[in-house]
Amino acid sequence: GAKGVGKNNYHYYTKSMRNAALKRMTLITDLRHAIEHNELFLVYQPIVNMNNGNVNKAEALIRWQHPTRGLICPDDFIPIAEETGLIIDISNWVFERVCRDAKYWRKTLCPDLQLSINTSPVHYTDPDRCITQWLQHMLVSRTPPQAITLEITENLLMDANTSVSNKLFQFRQAGVDIALDDFGTGYSSISYLKKYPTDFLKIDKSFVHSMSEVSNDKILCEAIIVMAKKLGIEVIAEGIETEEQHNILQKMGCKYGQGYLFFKPLTYEEFNAMLEKSKSAMNKSTMRSSGDI
Ligand code: C2E
Ligand code: MG
Ligand code: MG
Ligand code: MG
Repeated sequence: GAKGVGKNNYHYYTKSMRNAALKRMTLITDLRHAIEHNELFLVYQPIVNMNNGNVNKAEALIRWQHPTRGLICPDDFIPIAEETGLIIDISNWVFERVCRDAKYWRKTLCPDLQLSINTSPVHYTDPDRCITQWLQHMLVSRTPPQAITLEITENLLMDANTSVSNKLFQFRQAGVDIALDDFGTGYSSISYLKKYPTDFLKIDKSFVHSMSEVSNDKILCEAIIVMAKKLGIEVIAEGIETEEQHNILQKMGCKYGQGYLFFKPLTYEEFNAMLEKSKSAMNKSTMRSSGDI
């Protein structure tokens, strides 16, 4: 009867809840060791200048190669890392790795390369964690601040206090660019743009995806691009997957694009090869235009 079913459901429910809790605890333990065991790595997704096809920007995205569970994407462990505070160690590792890679590639293949890092609110809200350390690390490792962009989300600005804006100000003052990620989702308020100056605005992929010829999203997208331009903010459209989206955005005057249409996130080796290829293409075209070949 109904009673029996309820009982079974109850059993099933508690069991699955216990399993979930166990799984979560194991994940936390594993995550603690992930850094020391070299299980974390970065992929870089090129950001394309849609005016000329050049790439001198990319976003660093974290991956976790788990010894038994395989590849784990950030959405499945970053939230847990944020809840447990493990995000601090992880982000320090990301920051140092990105500085190292940016410095190396600027020296060898792309002098004006700029790599962006995703940051969590905790980096700005916890008293003095990370930020001072990061500025210090840039100095000690001789990483030019122009090589780094910090991506923040609107959540951070929503309940931002003066300490958050002070930290953002410190970074910008040092020459690090700030990008507002996932713009258009959440409770975007245009007033944030006035209060917290940013260098880049990244239009969220949900906008880009629903951009058919006639839609409200398309109108909003165009308005964002026009507004950003007037405020002196560069726009990057995220998640471009089709030629149609590409063409519409280009017509709207959006300068930068990121998405599977251009590049998937690339491993270190793949990104290195991409830079080599575009460097040699560039050399050939300069030689041609100067009449050397
Ligand atoms: P995000 O910063 O908005 O990054 C963009 C996400 O969109 C990435 O997912 C990327 O792989 C994906 N993407 C790129 N092009 C396309 C496309 O054409 N179509 C579609 N459908 N997706 C595309 P990913 O790598 O899984 O990262 C998810 C989120 O995890 C990121 O969103 C970011 O918020 C967070 N994250 C990634 N790496 C880090 C990190 O090192 N630290 C922190 N705190 N968060 C990170
Ligand atoms: Mg991002
Ligand atoms: Mg700058
Ligand atoms: Mg985004």
